[in-house]
Amino acid sequence: MSEQQPTPSSGRNLDPWYSNYARRTAGLTVSEVRALFAVASRPEVVSLAGGSPYVAGLPEDLIRSAFDRMLREHGPEALQYGGGQGIPQLRERILDLMAIEGITDASADDVVTTTGSQHAIDLITKLFIDPGDVILVESPTYVGALGTFKSYEADVRHVEMDADGLDPAALTEAIHAARAEGKQVKFLYTVPNYNNPTGVTMPMSRRREILDLCIREDVLILEDNPYGLLYFEEPAPNALRSLDAEHVLYMGSFSKILSPGVRVGYVLAPHGIREKLILAVESSILSPSTFNQWLVTEYLETADWRGQIDTYRGIYRERRDAMLRALEEYLPQLSWTVPAGGFFTWVQLPPGLDSKQMLPRATTELVAYTPGSGFYADGRGHDKMRLSFCLPEPERIRLGVRRLANVINNELELLETFGDVTGAGEIETRFSSAPPNLQ
Ligand code: PMP
Repeated sequence: MSEQQPTPSSGRNLDPWYSNYARRTAGLTVSEVRALFAVASRPEVVSLAGGSPYVAGLPEDLIRSAFDRMLREHGPEALQYGGGQGIPQLRERILDLMAIEGITDASADDVVTTTGSQHAIDLITKLFIDPGDVILVESPTYVGALGTFKSYEADVRHVEMDADGLDPAALTEAIHAARAEGKQVKFLYTVPNYNNPTGVTMPMSRRREILDLCIREDVLILEDNPYGLLYFEEPAPNALRSLDAEHVLYMGSFSKILSPGVRVGYVLAPHGIREKLILAVESSILSPSTFNQWLVTEYLETADWRGQIDTYRGIYRERRDAMLRALEEYLPQLSWTVPAGGFFTWVQLPPGLDSKQMLPRATTELVAYTPGSGFYADGRGHDKMRLSFCLPEPERIRLGVRRLANVINNELELLETFGDVTGAGEIETRFSSAPPNLQ
């Protein structure tokens, strides 16, 4: 046992195996989204916090018939181990999905299926990142990716965004700054469609600019696109990957267009990376679930999946509208993004309010949201919050925003009275019994 490491008896940690853990596990901290689940899932709380899709919008018989057919036609294979790359039949069907977003030059041989795209993020980070390596990300970015990057001890750097997504000048600067320090940028991670958490979408002109820049600078792009097909009016611009096959690693998922419970995602990779990725899958899980892959394959081959995506789009559009109308009605003094698809809007709070500090008060008022700081690796975001409109019914969304308005207006009154919300000692004491996982 190394002398520098705290010992189990040092009292610093109750876990007796504390000193045995690898150094990188220091990055494995509870995400703000995860910590919220326990509180936000109480039925009396309107949760505008999580990113769970509305699976009740998926007719049960669509799944049941795919399930029956799978067992009838492919039972033995579905119950057996499979290959690390994923089953060819599903990889063929994935080509149909990607073609909708302009990716028409791919072959099923370039696709690797994974256990959700979170698994893909993990494997790709494992392939590319040594401790201290630079990953560039949007500002803010998906909390789950940040958690993974941290767990591999990456040096995560945010690149500023504007209303069109990543700012090319800021990206150039970030690449040059890393190089000036003698560091290589291992990849740029981006969610160009209906970004989590901001809801922002990169228009085609910006995609071309970012791609040209990355080609010029020889930077690999990790394009994460779980929401692209969930547009509300116009389809999203074609994927970055549709413009270039060599500089873009593309990730998709069935979580939002079918169900997250099936845990099926996929990667479209340049040839060399694909090879490494298959080895990484095998060393991690041998093979992704054949059972679930066959279920998704049968669903794609027999159900009206395009119609089901239309249904989801209608549901989420109605909820987005309910959210925006409620914000206009109850919180007109705030500003927020207007997402053209996906699950989220990103709200800017008035000066002086801190979304993380305010959360226990919000849950007391039976509404939950995700504090903005979870989406930054560098401690920013306290003046922002993510509101999701994917799960609650429109009426509940309205109720949630009304409750949130009460909380925010109370905070603003306190701010006016005390000059500082945190300085209001009485309030701090009153809420000091908030669950520890919300701190
Ligand atoms: N990327 C983004 C941007 C996400 O929002 C999510 C889920 N919230 C994921 C990846 C992970 O999705 P899954 O593993 O379910 O495919």
